[in-house]
Amino acid sequence: MSQNRIAAVLRRVDAALFPNRCLAFRAMLPNRLWFCQSCDKKLARRPDPRIAAEGGPFVCCVAPFRYRGAGRSALLAYKFQNRHAAAAFLAAETVAALEKQPLPALDCVCWTPMRYAKYRKRGYNQSCLLARRVAKSLGLPSLPLLRKTRRTETQSKLLDETARRANVDGAYRAAKGVGGKRILLIDDVWTTGATARECGWTLLEAGAAELVFASPFARD
Ligand SMILES: [Zn+2]
Repeated sequence: MSQNRIAAVLRRVDAALFPNRCLAFRAMLPNRLWFCQSCDKKLARRPDPRIAAEGGPFVCCVAPFRYRGAGRSALLAYKFQNRHAAAAFLAAETVAALEKQPLPALDCVCWTPMRYAKYRKRGYNQSCLLARRVAKSLGLPSLPLLRKTRRTETQSKLLDETARRANVDGAYRAAKGVGGKRILLIDDVWTTGATARECGWTLLEAGAAELVFASPFARD
């Protein structure tokens, strides 16, 4: 086993033995709360979960939290330390934000894909796991409708929107069977929206009927 694998296994054992830790700072919790009191106060909830994304491919975009504070710590713990309990929390909050919106009827849920090499390295795609949980609570199927066809730079390393757009331009391909579908696209963070928009346009070009976007976080 590689060092990474061993570390991942140890983290899973830890999560199984100590499920009642704060999702942000690992303090033990007395009961089944997601966060300890002090972290709970640092959850940066967005007053209006809607993301302004007019002119894009989505009829509606939502994110319940700002990308900072305890929520951000929870996402990083989930992404890089395999803390899957965080996915349950983030998915539940994302669904709650979606349910407050007047949404079109949806057929299925998909997610922003990562390349196979990166997936092999990490062992899971956090957006896919989120999408599956969101789909389950909405009673919809989650389908792998997008594939990433080339390597891109990590979006967070790129400064402006133009660079981010160029980075993901043409990087995705839609699966067969997208035609006519009303799709909810899930990602973990909406930053400038360049990745989500590129995925959205790819789905629309493949014939998708209507798109909604949701993520636990928006960077604003
Ligand atoms: Zn805490």
